[in-house]
Amino acid sequence: MLYKITLIGVSILIMTSCSSLDRTSSDTSLPDHPTTQATLWVQQSAEYKAISLQTYQTALRTLAVPLVDSYWTALPSQEDNKRLPSLPPAIILDVDETVLDNSPFQARMIKQNSDFDPEAWNAWCMEAQASGIPGAAEFITFAANKGVTIFYVTNREYSVEAATRQNLIDEGFPVSETQDNIMTKGEEPGWTSSKIARRKLIEENYRVIMVFGDDLNDFIPAKNISRKEREDLVNASKTYLGERWFILPNPVYGSWDRALYDFENDLSDSDKARTLNQRLNTKN
Ligand SMILES: [Mg+2]
Repeated sequence: MLYKITLIGVSILIMTSCSSLDRTSSDTSLPDHPTTQATLWVQQSAEYKAISLQTYQTALRTLAVPLVDSYWTALPSQEDNKRLPSLPPAIILDVDETVLDNSPFQARMIKQNSDFDPEAWNAWCMEAQASGIPGAAEFITFAANKGVTIFYVTNREYSVEAATRQNLIDEGFPVSETQDNIMTKGEEPGWTSSKIARRKLIEENYRVIMVFGDDLNDFIPAKNISRKEREDLVNASKTYLGERWFILPNPVYGSWDRALYDFENDLSDSDKARTLNQRLNTKN
């Protein structure tokens, strides 16, 4: 009897500890984390790699034009700048999901059934083991060799800048030894999660010929605006896309996801589910 009770106790203990531990590769239940399918697409589909390559190869083929055309700019705010031809060319790139692939961090969250946590995120950044996005290092190296200054404008914290620099170097990205071209959030006063101040600083001294990102806010101020306004912004910027602005797919996270819920952060699970059901367009 005692043996039986102990056995039940041990089984309960194992069950409880399993539920609080990582999922293992032998788990037979489907992970119910909302980002499972999107993360698998990023990690396992050839199509994701193809889109990334397509984006950077298109940019590489286009690069000769802005280098010759001294009035070419990728920033609408720079269009009327009379000094443009005297400014040296630069390219602005976001880091996460634009040049570095953080899907292993997402995969860990899925296995632990946890939500985004800034401390865990910073710890992942400190590991400096994100892989380069396909095609990114080749393109950026090509541009740097043509005399283009590269700026990495990222919402990673300043505390992980050194690790990020190492990660970029390890993945073959050109990182300047003479100037700090990794601009992190909080590094200077006013460098908030909005990238406006950092873009403004760059455009004072450079002609920004291309911008790369995975989020609308990497290109243009689009914080907390509605889905309709986001769409209008894209339509208004159509001529920039694929020529001056290059956007990488990120089906896992981003301002698109927060816009789905109208930027309401404290929705209950049932309210979230109701919202998602409302958003599904069935044309009937
Ligand atoms: Mg990003």
